[in-house]
Amino acid sequence: MHEIQVHNTLSGKVEPFAPLKPGVVQMYTCGPTVYDYAHIGNYRTFVFQDILRRFLKLRGFQLTHVMNLTDVDDRIIANATAAGVSLRDYTEKYVQAFFADCKTLSIESPEHWIRATENIDTMVELIQELQKKTYTYNSEGSIYYRIAKFKDYGKLSKIDLSGIQVGARVDNDRYEKESARDFALWKAPKPGEHFWETAIGPGRPGWHIECSAMAMKFLGETIDIHTGGIDLAFPHHENEIAQSEAATGKPFVRYWMHAEHLLVEGEKMSKSLGNFFTLRDLFAKGYKPSALRFALASVPYRRQLNFTFDGLQQAASSVERLRNFAARLKNERFPAEKQAAMAERIAKAAANFDAGLSDDLNTAQALAAVFDFVREANIAMDKGEFRQGEVKAAQEFLATFDKVFAVLEDNDAEKLKALGYGASEGPGDAEIEKLVAERQAARKRKDFAESDRIRNELLKRGILLEDTKDGSVRWKRK
Ligand code: AMP
Ligand code: ZN
Repeated sequence: MHEIQVHNTLSGKVEPFAPLKPGVVQMYTCGPTVYDYAHIGNYRTFVFQDILRRFLKLRGFQLTHVMNLTDVDDRIIANATAAGVSLRDYTEKYVQAFFADCKTLSIESPEHWIRATENIDTMVELIQELQKKTYTYNSEGSIYYRIAKFKDYGKLSKIDLSGIQVGARVDNDRYEKESARDFALWKAPKPGEHFWETAIGPGRPGWHIECSAMAMKFLGETIDIHTGGIDLAFPHHENEIAQSEAATGKPFVRYWMHAEHLLVEGEKMSKSLGNFFTLRDLFAKGYKPSALRFALASVPYRRQLNFTFDGLQQAASSVERLRNFAARLKNERFPAEKQAAMAERIAKAAANFDAGLSDDLNTAQALAAVFDFVREANIAMDKGEFRQGEVKAAQEFLATFDKVFAVLEDNDAEKLKALGYGASEGPGDAEIEKLVAERQAARKRKDFAESDRIRNELLKRGILLEDTKDGSVRWKRK
């Protein structure tokens, strides 16, 4: 196995990865702001962190991964107030949609999901600590962080602080590098808005204090990995560092990993350009979850990903190719004896796969290792040169691949059905297997009328049957 290397935004370099405690990884991911459905750009980042967590687990690390749900922020407060409902009532729909989307994209559940609104006390305590250490000041009922006092401010995003006016403040949670200012830790309530009555006064937390407080509560003062999309590096993560390190005097995060953005047909995804997609938009157009996961995972996370429908189609074919190969391994019967050359070929593919992922999660390189092998093995099978004795090793390699990429299982139809798409069409796997077995039995007793009837019934319901040379049957959804 190869040494794992990751790009650390803090150092700006690719570094060997070694967690603080050998064998154990503490990881924090900034979760969604649940004010609307998440879009496929957001899922690019969540699929990246899923690939990372799955790879670390594959490599034997014991992982504690925390993801927060930002269920209080400027946009949520504005929308909930406009709709006249409580924060919880407003956000619940989007929280549930996010969980359903993650499941659909085979994004594993982190060890802890935490909601900002359930951790207000922890945030208040952290703000009190910062008050004690004089990193804060009050203004009109709000509490601000004094960035000039934190000498390392800017070390993550490498911003130039020379032009910044000491004491200038910003009230919004999201702002550009050019307007780096003292930011709000605690915001005074505005008329009609939801607020908490606390020891530091009435109000609500700023976005940045959330992640500092929750990451340290669940993972400790120094954590191994913190992930997010590149847009979060400034100001969100810069401010997290300022808050946490000022409070504890210890390094907050050892490896900062940021995913580059997803673009759509070469342009920034935006509602006004009409190129803004949620998962549901794509599923309604008939695309499969596995194709989307593959498309999002296939471009290494530090490269921008240009989303196109052609690309999504290609991803679907790639998944299909892999599933067909897995089906060949399962269903076909090959000549018996072993063959040293193929065993070596499989070992080489596995080593290349590991080398790709170890190299800062280079998914393109890892996938190339898989597809090169699949191409060669398919050729060997067609020529009658693949041996039954290699099946197990090949299947194990595919299983290793799938522990990280998670696209082999043909469960798209079920997932879509669970989300309410295509509910009436398509039988489930169990029903298909049953009909296939009945058809096999009919063929055996030479009842070809019955076997054709079953084949046609399945075809009408979107299932294609393929009879193989050795008499077994493969099926797939159209
Ligand atoms: P938000 O809900 O806005 O806090 O975003 C959730 C996650 O999605 C964050 O890690 C963002 O950095 C990330 N994100 C937002 N837009 C994109 C995009 N176009 N491509 C990739 N990641 C994104
Ligand atoms: Zn965060």
